[in-house]
Amino acid sequence: MPQLIILFPSYLQVLAALGETMKKGTSFGAPCLLENVLAEMVISAVPSIEMVRFVNSGTEACMGVLRLARAFTGRERIIKFEGCYHGHADPFLVKAGSGVATLGLPDSPGVPKGATYETLTAPFNDVSALENLFENNKGEIAAIILEPVVGNSGFIAPKPDFLNAIRRITKENGALLIFDEVMTGFRLAYGGAQEYFGVTPDLTTLGKIIGGGLPVGAYGGRRDIMEMVAPAGPMYQAGTLSGNPLAMTAGIHTLKRLKEPGTYEYLNKITGELTQGIIDAGKKAGHAICGGYISGMFGFFFTEGPVYNFEDAKKSETTKFARFYRGMLEEGVYFAPSQFEAGFTSLAHSSDDIQHTITAAEKVLRQI
Ligand SMILES: *Cc1c(COP(=O)(O)O)cnc(C)c1O
Repeated sequence: MPQLIILFPSYLQVLAALGETMKKGTSFGAPCLLENVLAEMVISAVPSIEMVRFVNSGTEACMGVLRLARAFTGRERIIKFEGCYHGHADPFLVKAGSGVATLGLPDSPGVPKGATYETLTAPFNDVSALENLFENNKGEIAAIILEPVVGNSGFIAPKPDFLNAIRRITKENGALLIFDEVMTGFRLAYGGAQEYFGVTPDLTTLGKIIGGGLPVGAYGGRRDIMEMVAPAGPMYQAGTLSGNPLAMTAGIHTLKRLKEPGTYEYLNKITGELTQGIIDAGKKAGHAICGGYISGMFGFFFTEGPVYNFEDAKKSETTKFARFYRGMLEEGVYFAPSQFEAGFTSLAHSSDDIQHTITAAEKVLRQI
């Protein structure tokens, strides 16, 4: 089921639009009109974004936003959560989830100690750990960055009020709040997790969906902060291919389709059926299993649960997941190949696809 892009049936339209754009030039190394069009769409959709800068990947967006948060606050320390992934830039490769978790690498070789020295970590959903970090690093923390719903250690939702607590703590301490919505943006709701939960960060990163399948990332937020980015301000960041017309075209067409009424209701409905179907089938077959979903994002763990953070997620029986994954492949269903990745549904998935997947899961879960 994993699909980074969200609307395969309309993809032919996107391809046609790309063909038209391509005739005019694939890249100019300069801003183009389409960049403004997509920027306007993102600004009107995402509550925190008043100005936006396009880049070429989620990794780049997170690198840019980190430099910006440090530039704006004049502080260097950041807090990230264990099991959250913010791309592969050095400062974030501490207790990162995703492929790093799957491969059991706590850090990566090649990352110098100095690069992660200012990166503090806390368990997700743990407000008192955060309060302690602020207490012990008074006036030194530039920002908290997080996946508002974690997708890179499997699917982990925030506890009620966790996001509000972080918003309060960052304000009290003069630190910025950054939502990394590379995964959740335009997936949980048109305005992302911040619209869904009603919590507005200072800065936001985006990627994946906003490129409609082409390489894109973006960071944006409060105007007073974004005005520090060059050339308007002194914080340097640039990119030859950033905002190129092809990626912008694919993004524009994707967002247009997602904005149509009923999109997120449909995703929520099929994702709920799928997740509940798998959990029910797992329990019926005698497995310890738990899981959750929001709109087009879901996940389940082979453990009793509840799963509130990466430590809880690691209790999952990964060898069982491996058997489930291979069994499903044999049934013709391709899940994300790790217990520590969330799954996504797309508008291409029909009710029949969901039923077919549940039926296959019932069979495989009885065998493993
Ligand atoms: C995928 C992802 C990234 C990195 O994006 P890339 O385009 O792969 O560099 C960053 N943050 C989150 C939350 C992601 O899911």
